[in-house]
Amino acid sequence: IKRIGVLTSGGDAPGMNACIRSVVLTAAAKEIEVVGFSHGFNGLIDGEHRTLLPYHVQHIIQLGGTILKSARCPALHTEDGARTAAGTLHQLQLDALLVIGGDGSFRGAMAIAPFYKGQLIGLPGTIDNDVDGTDATIGYATAIDTALDAIDKIRDTADAFERIFLVELMGRHSGFIALSAGIACGAEQIICPELGLLKKGQLDSVIRPIQHAQLIKGKSSYIIVMAEHCYPGGSTALAADLSEAIGIECRACVLGHIQRGGSPVGADRILATKLGAYAVEQLMQGAHLMMAGEVNHQAGLFPLELTGEGKKNIDPYLLNWQQQVAND
Ligand code: ATP
Repeated sequence: IKRIGVLTSGGDAPGMNACIRSVVLTAAAKEIEVVGFSHGFNGLIDGEHRTLLPYHVQHIIQLGGTILKSARCPALHTEDGARTAAGTLHQLQLDALLVIGGDGSFRGAMAIAPFYKGQLIGLPGTIDNDVDGTDATIGYATAIDTALDAIDKIRDTADAFERIFLVELMGRHSGFIALSAGIACGAEQIICPELGLLKKGQLDSVIRPIQHAQLIKGKSSYIIVMAEHCYPGGSTALAADLSEAIGIECRACVLGHIQRGGSPVGADRILATKLGAYAVEQLMQGAHLMMAGEVNHQAGLFPLELTGEGKKNIDPYLLNWQQQVAND
């Protein structure tokens, strides 16, 4: 292997820069050149790229976002787009491409595979943690801490005004962030897709624990942490419907993109560094169409095509405990 490409794709995640850095430093130590593509797969299709040397990745380990920029790339959903992307890789004589992103980005890599002679490896970079084949994704730990920082502040004002707050966190299809942040902030209630999506006006399961808590426990504030898309119209609509139903003012707070930003926490920097290095080493061993992940502290390869199976579950023990405590 003489030359490899790297790109960041899909939702950006804290630690993507640490991963780019690790790839570049590891490759340089093994005398492999690295070409970075900008704006996700768009950089491949538009030929937007630059050589990455160790000095380009100096002091980026602590930076959020991605120096390569990230983007969605609708063009890759067409065969033409995939052929063009592969054509760029051949033209630049790249022996392999590393894709840092979520399972969508890995599907993008697989779409290129039939037209590309080189190797393709994925690195799990997404705050959602919804990628099979790794215990944690790069960015997940930081997203939890960012959410916690915000929710702890919301607790102060909720307590002072004796209000009910609904805090909406990211996680379209999974409750990893909602459950982890909800547990860690001591949320009174957690709503996540794994418990079933709520229909408009279907408020019983939400109201029961609130009334119970107020009557029995004399709570002065009540925080519901919910994953996005669990109620039609989101937390704002749920807060309005709840206020009307129980006659207590409920406020919604959508954390949104704050969760994607910020300096990566130590765990994400370490994971990103380990997986970036491991991916380059595995490329040299001939790995192809695999994702570099970490399970039980051990780096390993996992088939790219299985990363989006949705087999990784949120912690059933903590979910069950939360349910018991909320309803007890
Ligand atoms: P996150 O979940 O953190 O947003 P992701 O990598 O899952 O990250 P997506 O928006 O699902 O984000 O995918 C990123 C890009 O991957 C898409 O914009 C598209 O270019 C490419 N991609 C996704 N699915 C496919 C597919 N089936 N075929 C070809 N390309 C795809």
